[in-house]
Amino acid sequence: MYSYRDQLEFIKNIKIAEGDRKTIDCPFCGGKKKFTIDRYDGKLIWNCYKASCNVRGAYSGKRSIEAAKAFIANNAIKRKKAQSYPIPQITTKVENHKPAVDFLKAVNSWVAYEKGHIKITYAPAEDRVLFYNADHTGAVGRSLRPAKAKWWTYGTLDGGITVGTGTHVVLVEDVPSACAISQLNGYVGLSLLGTDITRPIRKALSSYDKVTLVLDNDASAKAILMTRKYDQIDCVRLTQKDVKWLTVPQIQDLLR
Ligand SMILES: [Zn+2]
Repeated sequence: MYSYRDQLEFIKNIKIAEGDRKTIDCPFCGGKKKFTIDRYDGKLIWNCYKASCNVRGAYSGKRSIEAAKAFIANNAIKRKKAQSYPIPQITTKVENHKPAVDFLKAVNSWVAYEKGHIKITYAPAEDRVLFYNADHTGAVGRSLRPAKAKWWTYGTLDGGITVGTGTHVVLVEDVPSACAISQLNGYVGLSLLGTDITRPIRKALSSYDKVTLVLDNDASAKAILMTRKYDQIDCVRLTQKDVKWLTVPQIQDLLR
């Protein structure tokens, strides 16, 4: 299949006078004398008459290629947006909703919030606590009531969610665990929001002195696979419990 652009690229090189028509071998499928090209009114119209060949189109000057480009760009944006939900517009400070505070304290994330390591808000309509990425272009929302999806993703989060400042980054699966890591001086928690180390995350890793990957005990096979795949990871730690359930001394012990 040839895209409109591919076709146009070729068509524009065919010399044809205004009001003229040419019948030639199809440059795309090779069909003998199946391809016609017309120029009239400043327009180029082309068509292949071979049933199996889908090559056809029209071109009417600069404006239409710009329009075509805009159309393609718009479609790309729409497709990207369709995959993600916008961050809820109406949010409030978590302090305004006690269950949100209780939740953050229970999952070792309160200190990170209080120290300003991460933006966290409460979305009343969704009844979710939102954890934002560093540039606030994306967030994950944890439902405070029983929900089909305990976690919900908003905006773009290709780079995961980074919490805290320091030179030693610790890769964990979920955001509360990243918050828990950031309680340690000099440590940054990076929630992968899954198990994949995306390209933006890989890029971000190069700005740290040390990279540790924390996985649960039963994920050791996955851990080995990951470390083999990414030489940026300096060490791997396995834990029985998610970091968000560990005390600060326990986390220090784990990372020792
Ligand atoms: Zn053809």
